[in-house]
Amino acid sequence: MSNIGFIGLGIMGNPMASHLITGGHKLFVYDVVKVPQALIDQGATACASSREVASHADIIITMVPDTPHVENVLFGKNGVAEGVAPGKIVVDMSSISPIATKDFAARINALGCDYLDAPVSGGEVGAKAATLTIMVGGPEGAFAKVKPIFELMGKNITLVGGNGDGQTTKVANQIIVALTIEAVGEALLFASKAGADPARVRTALMGGFANSRILEVHGERMITRNFSPGFRIELHQKDLNLALSGARALGISLPNTATAQELFNAAVAAGGAAWDHSGMVRVLERLACHEVVKG
Ligand code: NAD
Repeated sequence: MSNIGFIGLGIMGNPMASHLITGGHKLFVYDVVKVPQALIDQGATACASSREVASHADIIITMVPDTPHVENVLFGKNGVAEGVAPGKIVVDMSSISPIATKDFAARINALGCDYLDAPVSGGEVGAKAATLTIMVGGPEGAFAKVKPIFELMGKNITLVGGNGDGQTTKVANQIIVALTIEAVGEALLFASKAGADPARVRTALMGGFANSRILEVHGERMITRNFSPGFRIELHQKDLNLALSGARALGISLPNTATAQELFNAAVAAGGAAWDHSGMVRVLERLACHEVVKG
């Protein structure tokens, strides 16, 4: 049994923290808004700050929205850096900038602690089912110590390389997801406008080479018109911004990632910041003057 800290208890962090308690660990938790009552009922100890979490826990996990939130949790007033002692491990499971991650890791290392970047894929469904894919960057020794804890939250767990490589892998994941949502949206829109039933088209395609989790999960959302998150468009905008600013810094072009970002931007302009990212199809529908509906 370990003393584990968990900071950020939203859509993802809440079920992830719950699995760690079920797995027999003692949890110290903090969220800037409020700690879900169900976690307290399960036995978690609510703390008043990230510093307090870090002072009680040997492994401190963060699961907050974006790079500035992680920086604030780690290095802000009453942050993790004020509470840690040498030998502890900080594990950031949020999806944030790979470049900032290398800086955060160096600053945590200077305090005598290891740092792992360990963003996840699999969404709310994967968080609840403990089937997340976890992409890790950091030293092998720290990875070996934290792996049994990752195994309570996920299934496909890979140490990709050094600090930052986990976040780089997550950015690559988000490029594939955004472009596949766009492809599935165009395909179902085409089928619907041509007079075919998009639900049957989806079913037919699911047996073939064009099948994907996106066709299965988000294709169904597009047909049943369920755009409640899930994964908010504003979070995917953040991830594609990391891809596009990274591409600029690396001196490469990612043309279709840029197009996908513009479609997310248009969705936000239409009031969709908090739609599930499958709601990108609504922008394609406006361009086509047609909705994905039964033929
Ligand atoms: P969320 O907004 O539901 O939860 C984030 C939580 O962090 C909130 O409860 C918020 O109050 C808390 N928080 C923010 N700033 C804080 C601070 N300074 N101190 C303490 N708590 C703070 O977001 P989410 O959907 O759980 O996503 C979290 C991260 O996981 C993001 O980086 C996201 O990109 C990534 N992610 C999300 C999904 C998904 O499907 N939702 C899937 C994979 C990865």
